[in-house]
Amino acid sequence: MKNNSKYWIVTDLDGTLMDENYDISPAKKTLDILSKMAIPVIPCTSKTASEVRYFRNENGLSDPFIVENGAAIYGTYENNSSEWELILGKSYKELRIILMNISKEVNYQLIPLNDLSQNQIFELTGLSGKAINRALDRHWSVPFLNPPDDIFEKVKLICESYNVHVFKGNRMSHLLSSESHKGQAVNHLKVHLQNHNVRIIALGDSQNDLPLLQYADISIVIPGKNGPNKYLQNGIDKGIFRLANAPHAEGWSNSIEEVINSFKDLC
Ligand SMILES: [Mg+2]
Repeated sequence: MKNNSKYWIVTDLDGTLMDENYDISPAKKTLDILSKMAIPVIPCTSKTASEVRYFRNENGLSDPFIVENGAAIYGTYENNSSEWELILGKSYKELRIILMNISKEVNYQLIPLNDLSQNQIFELTGLSGKAINRALDRHWSVPFLNPPDDIFEKVKLICESYNVHVFKGNRMSHLLSSESHKGQAVNHLKVHLQNHNVRIIALGDSQNDLPLLQYADISIVIPGKNGPNKYLQNGIDKGIFRLANAPHAEGWSNSIEEVINSFKDLC
């Protein structure tokens, strides 16, 4: 990736570029256009580095990537293609202890994804075999089963005293250091690559994308089949976020093509 790119596309994966079956095929053509225009596509996801490395290989992406909801950033050096790493979060071990303490405080057992059986993980995520191993390769965040809404609100309030925060994704919630979120990670990446003037085009579908969408210059909400996430509705109502005209990869593709057509002179 060139360090002087004018635009970065920073995108969530699950529910945004991917549908519930992890399919991104409606966006393939747009990804090719972006590659030809040398516009970086930076995954920014709750997934693990192992999962995103696999995803990048499958889809021919080579730009940096932000994982575990902003807790770590990776990229490859151009001269020798080895990987660099920026860590912004607390360790899995430390966070897991905090999750157990919070469970006691709210009197509700919060169950980490990594404690489930392979069958339970398949039921929840549709993943199997090696894909499960990649999903469990966590280092800087603890995903856990979504508790009921009232418990989730209590957890949110308690988090501050532990210096952590929680985000609710589509399939599960995530506990991570309060120093790490997706918006913060993009800012760190800008500094790391010394590209302070790059404009960020961000796409997301859930509450965990809110810090990214708030940070970005152009913010696009990808709706699900039943419309946009309730946590992102306020930004749409205020006209700060754009709403894509279709769910998942199709909406992703339409929105990106609209943006790049409006900046035909951008590269
Ligand atoms: Mg998502």
